[in-house]
Amino acid sequence: MAEIVIRIRNERGALAWCSQAVSDCGVNVLTGFFTAPGRSNTATLSFFADITDAEEGLSGLKKPLQSVDFIESVDAIAAEDGFMVDKQHFPVPWAGRKGIVMRAEALNEMLNRLWTVFGTGSATIIDQMAEAMGRHSEEEIAEDFGAKFVFDQLDELIGIYSALGYADVSIERGKTSGFPIVVNTKELFECESNSKQNLHRGSTFFRAHLRGLMSGTFGRTFEVNEAQCLTEEDEVCSFRVALSESVAPRLLRNVPNADSE
Ligand SMILES: [Zn+2]
Repeated sequence: MAEIVIRIRNERGALAWCSQAVSDCGVNVLTGFFTAPGRSNTATLSFFADITDAEEGLSGLKKPLQSVDFIESVDAIAAEDGFMVDKQHFPVPWAGRKGIVMRAEALNEMLNRLWTVFGTGSATIIDQMAEAMGRHSEEEIAEDFGAKFVFDQLDELIGIYSALGYADVSIERGKTSGFPIVVNTKELFECESNSKQNLHRGSTFFRAHLRGLMSGTFGRTFEVNEAQCLTEEDEVCSFRVALSESVAPRLLRNVPNADSE
């Protein structure tokens, strides 16, 4: 088994040439990815491979691959016993920034530890932590594209939760254009775990993260309430997302209402 990372000139047809060259070397690709960032001159083909049929093994691979016109560099490492961890792609990019990946169980474990240590007070800690995380997720997007564009593209924006692995998300919009909307989440990691272990009712982390994401994106204050939840034996967790009405405007609006009565 080997891990092979090939850097290619980011040009049309380069991947096809490169794949053919790999195949000609007798390499059987097991799993991998290809990435060609729009602004970069270099694309990367990276994969784990079975090199049993490669005539000269790992050392015989590099030379013919490097002679292919499109290929800029080849890094290849092998493991005799077949156990390999991909450590050639640090850092992990996420939306153009450095990201980290963790198992859902690990995050749930951290949240549950907070509940154990701080009891119900942990709800505030988790709420504030998750809100801050959500707020920083897509802060620049409305500044760059405008609030109307972002609202129209909200299905795509909320898709960040599917991409992050938090849940499979979709949006229900109301009859009027604008808020409130409903965000439906299937297999939400937090409530799935709580439901299995019969721990807490409702989401704390995700609900606050979603509130932070909306607030950060639109620069307004939002309220997010979970109307349905896996922990209440509903099929999905549903969150109503509404603009928050601050106290002052409500008082002001109440004045004419009172006069008219
Ligand atoms: Zn839930």
